[in-house]
Amino acid sequence: MATKILKYTFAIFLILVLIVLLRAYLHQPDAYQAKISEPIIFDETKSINNLSRSIQFETISHPDYEKFDYDEFQRFLAWLEEEYFQVFKNLEKKYLGETLLLKWKGEDPSLDPILLTGHYDVVPVREDANSIWQEKPFSGKIDDEYVWGRGALDDKSGVIAILEAVDYLLTQDFVPNRTIYLSFGHDEEIGGRRGAGKVAEFLINEGVELEWTLDEGSFLLKDIIPGVNKPVAVINVAEKGSLTIEVIGKAEGGHSSMPSSNSSVGYLAEALLKLEDNPIPGKLEGISLGLFDEVSKQMPFQYKILFANLWLFEPVINSFLSNSPTMNAVIRTTTAPTMLSASNRINVLASEAKGTVNFRLHPRDNPETIVNFVNNLIGNENIEVKKLSSGTLASSVSDWDTDGYRVISNSVREVYGDIIVAPGLMVGGSDSKHYGKAAKNSYRFNPFPLSASELSGLHGIDERIKKEDFLNGIRSYIRIIQSGSI
Ligand SMILES: [Zn+2]
Repeated sequence: MATKILKYTFAIFLILVLIVLLRAYLHQPDAYQAKISEPIIFDETKSINNLSRSIQFETISHPDYEKFDYDEFQRFLAWLEEEYFQVFKNLEKKYLGETLLLKWKGEDPSLDPILLTGHYDVVPVREDANSIWQEKPFSGKIDDEYVWGRGALDDKSGVIAILEAVDYLLTQDFVPNRTIYLSFGHDEEIGGRRGAGKVAEFLINEGVELEWTLDEGSFLLKDIIPGVNKPVAVINVAEKGSLTIEVIGKAEGGHSSMPSSNSSVGYLAEALLKLEDNPIPGKLEGISLGLFDEVSKQMPFQYKILFANLWLFEPVINSFLSNSPTMNAVIRTTTAPTMLSASNRINVLASEAKGTVNFRLHPRDNPETIVNFVNNLIGNENIEVKKLSSGTLASSVSDWDTDGYRVISNSVREVYGDIIVAPGLMVGGSDSKHYGKAAKNSYRFNPFPLSASELSGLHGIDERIKKEDFLNGIRSYIRIIQSGSI
């Protein structure tokens, strides 16, 4: 009898192993045949010089709108009008503050327009940047391989590549079938209220509903996702929201010579530790599932075994992803204690100790669910939880089974060949939170390759873009406009 049970158990185990292996074996990417198309030939030196020139304008945005150097922004816009005179001659222009909106009228008014967008404001550089950067941050230096400077990746490369693409298509006498809007924001780095926010308002008032939008976002990532050799174009289909709360520990204050057994600082410390030890629930589903399903098809067999058998390995995968800060941010609302305050005297017990906690909201959560989670978790009557502002919700999640998504992914594949394309979640913010209000779907992707060594230049030091990568970005935008305007 016992041997019979053993035999059955063994047989069932064997069948399970076979199912697991078979599913891993069948976990293959869709066969993709890159379209062979005519090479796109344009004046590469001119394009690269224009990117360099654009970087030399110090269009730094500042949290205080009063402190903008608007003259510099105006000089940049005047240069655009002069350099891209052909674009300005053929497209209708409108300024909303220092944000530029261009409309390229399509032949078929029954088609909803699309929007290509970027921003030309940049974040500041540190004071000692001139001695720390390999090249001066606003030099726009061109060497054999790179164009250097603040904005080379974020996001003057996007703005200039879109304008170069439109300029090229105009010389080819291309006329879009669908109307195309171009928008270049001046305050994205501080939230985009006066730029993209006003553009979205304007479009809604005009009764425009955009079919889709393409804004900055992720890149064509090279050697950044572990275990994957091919470049991965991550097209972000949503961006996270944000909520900041104050956790306040309360106890009797007084002199430190006769403390009671519980202090406000102690209550606060306990509460913050609980928050750190108990992350907001999250798992592989929706966008992150779409991303890993695509990417894992190109991973070595041992990873395929895991990702092709979520029914069995989901807990293992979730804990594996939770241990990586980048992956963790994609699957859940993250919890980050940032500021602390209590007594300002060495010998005074604080009656209130305050901790600030910043959450980045996953699309599945909202400020109320987070505050409830925090209150239930802490469960201490000596702790008060207060929202510091109403918070911002994550954006809506755009559909990635659409013609717009396919236009972007096929265009990028045409230019770069054998790459992986997958949907993603943007953990930072972009102007798309505004544009999305006027659009059915919003995508966030820069069609430029980016390697790990270049990644640190984003808002950091030595920001630069490879010349070849920038030129291929222009080619990508040309293809996106050609196939997106049909
Ligand atoms: Zn940006």
